[in-house]
Amino acid sequence: MNPAKTQVPAQPGWFTLDPEAPALLGSRCRKCGTIAFPAENAFCRNPDCQSTEFDQHALSRRGRIWSYTDARYKPPVPYVATDPYQPFCIAAVELADEKMVVLGQMVAGVEAGDLAVGDEVELVLDTLHEDDAHEYLVWKWRPVRPRKEGRG
Ligand SMILES: [Zn+2]
Repeated sequence: MNPAKTQVPAQPGWFTLDPEAPALLGSRCRKCGTIAFPAENAFCRNPDCQSTEFDQHALSRRGRIWSYTDARYKPPVPYVATDPYQPFCIAAVELADEKMVVLGQMVAGVEAGDLAVGDEVELVLDTLHEDDAHEYLVWKWRPVRPRKEGRG
């Protein structure tokens, strides 16, 4: 990240900007405890619950890979692609505590061939795109273990 530029979230309110321990911000229903991400602010997602009151809830920063793939084709707008387009790896990660699955890019340099279902990953922030004054940050998943360690 570039310290000369102002860092702003690409999706305001979806995650903290804590450089050491960023976390996704979901909501927790005050009545039934149902957790949602992105945060819910209208009606509880639990069909048996009528609550409309929620607290902010920071989600687990770690989880395990549930599924993953390489994005070989350039995604549509509003994704800002590199030129020339460089494929990146995306992973669906089951959060450690909430057991919710959250999709995200893997950090640069990680390819699908490096990953396996069940690998532990943690949340980090990285630049999605930038303009003259700002860096727009997004969350990405980073393997907790060094790549390919301990696998046969
Ligand atoms: Zn509820």
